[in-house]
Amino acid sequence: DLKITIIGGGSSYTPEIIEGFIKRHDTLPVKEIWLVDIEEGKEKLEIVGNLAKRMVKKAQIDCTVNLTLDRKDALKGSDFVVTQFRVGLMDARIRDEKIPLRYNCIGQETTGAGGFAKALRTIPVILDICKDMEKICPDAWLINFTNPSGIITETVLKHTNIKVIGLCNVPVLMHMVAAEAVGAKSKDEVFVHFAGLNHLVWGRKIYYQGKDVTSQVVEKIVNGMKFTTRNIAEMGWIKEQIKDLNMLPCPYHRYYYLTYKMLQEEIESAKTIGTRGEIVKKVEKELFEIYKDPNLAEKPKQLEQRGGQYYSDAACELINSIYNDKRIIMTVNTRNNGAIADLPDDVAIETSCVITKQGAIPLNTGHVEVQIRGLLQVIKAYEELTIEAAIKGDYNKALQALTMHPLVTSAEVAKKILDDIIKENIDYLPQF
Ligand code: NAD
Ligand code: MN
Repeated sequence: DLKITIIGGGSSYTPEIIEGFIKRHDTLPVKEIWLVDIEEGKEKLEIVGNLAKRMVKKAQIDCTVNLTLDRKDALKGSDFVVTQFRVGLMDARIRDEKIPLRYNCIGQETTGAGGFAKALRTIPVILDICKDMEKICPDAWLINFTNPSGIITETVLKHTNIKVIGLCNVPVLMHMVAAEAVGAKSKDEVFVHFAGLNHLVWGRKIYYQGKDVTSQVVEKIVNGMKFTTRNIAEMGWIKEQIKDLNMLPCPYHRYYYLTYKMLQEEIESAKTIGTRGEIVKKVEKELFEIYKDPNLAEKPKQLEQRGGQYYSDAACELINSIYNDKRIIMTVNTRNNGAIADLPDDVAIETSCVITKQGAIPLNTGHVEVQIRGLLQVIKAYEELTIEAAIKGDYNKALQALTMHPLVTSAEVAKKILDDIIKENIDYLPQF
């Protein structure tokens, strides 16, 4: 019997993960789900938690849903700990989006300087959680969603004794697009070999019915097949470049490949409809009104508007595959261990892995093409430095990390952004 603890339980995504456990209850006997939140999230926890209770009751499965603000208590006897929290709540995200824009740099939740700020706030908290886990449930798996997912996963890999796998829904969406592009009935008929980093992942090879169909999929993508996530504007691609690449880029690649266009779009949106964080804040308010309905006992359709869909379901499938040693292939964040020969062994990569009872075993990629190697290495170096800076509260390392990032234009700009980030997040930066 399994006990699952979800940290950040008040998240609007929680109904999807509950649905995922209900669907799999025959093979994944989850007996207890504990939703953990903090004082500031208490109201959301109550609303979402009560919906979760109604869902489980309606499904008539043998499982309890428990709500708490006491993390240590919830961790006792946990088999899996799922982290989906947001340090500083949505207002911090909105600041992350706005600070870089002041200096004409991309302002985004996970990519560039915004993601850097989120990492600085999140790393002390994830280390605290792991310290608790080391004492209370040292054998539990940590399934991390918390963004920046790759950086957070690497932090846990390098600085704790906890077993961790990081997850994102972007590879799932890319896999679905690839299947649609070749006219497959489901994504299970198509194999995509993913390699890269979180939010910088490429579908390097795509196979269908025993054939390499990568260029066929790429052709569809460059000719306008819809391919983005809720949070990223559909901007098309530079055809010649993507065709030469002959890989499936991820929607976040637009920040690097179409920086100017993306920046203009962000500046325009910030002035008119608001940043993505500001929009999501409104969508969430409406969602929580829907969640309050005492007659609602399932995941409401409106959750799709929120973005991030399939990622909770992916988490359930991942937990299922670990628990039942299913050895299915999923794309997750795990220790490189030589799978990508152009990156250090001890860093986190996002790649296709076999999911076993012992964890994720990455499929081998070897050396990557020169067309993607440079960006891959520079972003990984940025991530490594960011983790060091966040752990030690090292201002110079932080400046170095931001300066290196391709979406931050220079050390001059990096310093200004860094000073704003520290000043405006000081309540969440005990290390600085
Ligand atoms: P949210 O703002 O709803 O936050 C979720 C909950 O976390 C809130 O109820 C909040 O009170 C709580 N929280 C904040 N600090 C906490 C702490 N120290 N301990 C426990 N709980 C805490 O956020 P969301 O939009 O649901 O997203 C949650 C996280 O998941 C974010 O980091 C987001 O970036 C990430 N996310 C990841 C993916 C992915 O594919 N990897 C997709 C969507 C969202
Ligand atoms: Mn993601």
